[in-house]
Amino acid sequence: MTTTETAIASAEAHSAHNYHPLPVVVATAEGAWMTDVEGRRYLDLLAGYSALNFGHGNRRLIDAARAQLERVTLTSRAFHHDRFADFCTQLAELCGMETVLPMNTGAEAVETAVKTARKWGYRVKGVPDGMAKIIVAAGNFHGRTTTVVSFSTDPEARADYGPYTPGFEIVPYGDLAALDAAMTGNTVAVLLEPIQGEAGVLVPPPGYLAGVRELTRRRNVLFVADEIQSGLGRTGRTFALEHEGVVPDMYLLGKALGGGVVPVSAVVSSAAVLGVFRPGEHGSTFGGNPLACAVALEVIAMLRTGEFQERAAELGDHLHRELGLLAGGDAVTAVRGRGLWAGIDIAPRLGTGREISEKLMDRGVLVKDTHGSTIRIAPPLVISKEDLDWGLDQLREVLRG
Ligand SMILES: *Cc1c(COP(=O)(O)O)cnc(C)c1O
Repeated sequence: MTTTETAIASAEAHSAHNYHPLPVVVATAEGAWMTDVEGRRYLDLLAGYSALNFGHGNRRLIDAARAQLERVTLTSRAFHHDRFADFCTQLAELCGMETVLPMNTGAEAVETAVKTARKWGYRVKGVPDGMAKIIVAAGNFHGRTTTVVSFSTDPEARADYGPYTPGFEIVPYGDLAALDAAMTGNTVAVLLEPIQGEAGVLVPPPGYLAGVRELTRRRNVLFVADEIQSGLGRTGRTFALEHEGVVPDMYLLGKALGGGVVPVSAVVSSAAVLGVFRPGEHGSTFGGNPLACAVALEVIAMLRTGEFQERAAELGDHLHRELGLLAGGDAVTAVRGRGLWAGIDIAPRLGTGREISEKLMDRGVLVKDTHGSTIRIAPPLVISKEDLDWGLDQLREVLRG
C-alpha cells in the first residue's frame, strides 16, 4: 500500500464515518496550496469552507498565535485577560455595532443567537413565556447541534436526531410574502444566511434582504444574519449584507474570524440586545480565550484595511466572468455566487459532484461537492490570479469529459 492508502485505511478503521473525505492526505500547506504525504501539490479551492480566507500559514496570523502561545493561552472568563477588551472593542467597531459575545464554533454562535433572541423576546418585547418563535429559511445550514438541526430541511443533517427543539418556523428562502405571512406577535427573530452556502451558494433575489430588514423593523423582530461563511471578505465586502445596503440587528461570525488557526466565533449586536444576559446565564470555557483573541485581532486588523475585500471583489469579478463563459456551454447548467465564491451546477451526464471533485483532485485541484452535481469554489482570498486561472483551466479540462 502507498503512504496515502495506509493513512486512509487507518483513519477509516479508527474514526467515525461522519465524513467522506477525498482520498488525499495533506501534510503541509502554504497560501493557496497544500502538499500531501507523497509530495504532490494541490490548489485549495475550498479554503476550509472559508475558515482559511487569509490562506494557509498566513505569516501575520502564525506570528500572532506564536507570540500569544508564549504569554498566556487560557484564563477562562472567571478572570479578565489583556487581549479581551481590544478584541471586543475592535470587532464591534468592524461590525459598526456595540457589543460582542465570543464563543468558539459557528454552531455555538447560532445557539447563542437563539438564546439571545428568546430572552430578548421575553424580557424586552413582552412575548408570553415559552411562546417565542424564530423564523428560518428552507435550505439553511446553521450548524450541527440538536437545536440547530431541529430547523434544518436537509434529511441527512436532521434524520434520527429527534425529539426536535420546538419554536422554529421554516419559510422558503427568498420569498418575502411567505416571511410576512409567517410573522406573528410572538416572532422574536428572523435567522438567515445572506447567501446560502451549503445549499449551493444561493444568492437571494435582489431586494429580498432589504425587504427582510424593512419587515423585521416594522414588526419589532430581530434580523439575525448568519455571516459565518459569507462574512469577513469572502464576497468582496466585509459582510455579504453590505451588497444590499442592509445592516442587521445581529451578526453571527465564525470560520475566518479564527484565521484557520483556532476556532473563534462571536455574536455581535447592540448593547440593548446583548444586554439581556446577566452573569451565569450563558458562557463557554474557551470562548474569548487569549489565544483566540490574539489571532482574531490580527484578522480584524487585516480586514480593516479593506485590501482583502478589494482582492475578493476583483478576483471574484474575474472568476464569475470566466464561469459565465462556461455556463454558456452544455457542461454547466448554472453558476451562482458573489466575490470569490461560486456554486457551479454541472450537467448530470458528466457525473456527480463527487466524481467531478475526484477528477479535479487527480489534476491537483481540491474542491468540495454539495447536493448532487453542484461543486463550490471558495479559494483563499490570497490566491494569485495565475493560480486561479490554472485551477479554472483544470475545471475546463474535466468538463470536457
Ligand atoms: C459552517 C457554518 C456554521 C457552523 O459553524 P461550525 O463552526 O461548523 O459549527 C453555521 N452557519 C454557517 C452559515 C456556516 O457556514
